[in-house]
Amino acid sequence: MSDDKWAEKLAEKVEPEQRTEFIRFVTAGESSPEFQSHLDSCQACQAAVEEAVQITSRGLERLAETLAADRNK
Ligand SMILES: [Zn+2]
Repeated sequence: MSDDKWAEKLAEKVEPEQRTEFIRFVTAGESSPEFQSHLDSCQACQAAVEEAVQITSRGLERLAETLAADRNK
């Protein structure tokens, strides 16, 4: 996962006005207070963040496997 294409794809599930903040949140872990309070009350954004967490944790697992495999060479 060398780029943030997945985040852009996922951002299509949230309101257009939240997309930039959403992508920043799921890729950089940064969010404005406005986005945080929106997230608290928005199920669409919560579901999209949930998916992002799954995608990024799968990515980390793959990275861990790759590193482990390299060590065994
Ligand atoms: Zn929302």
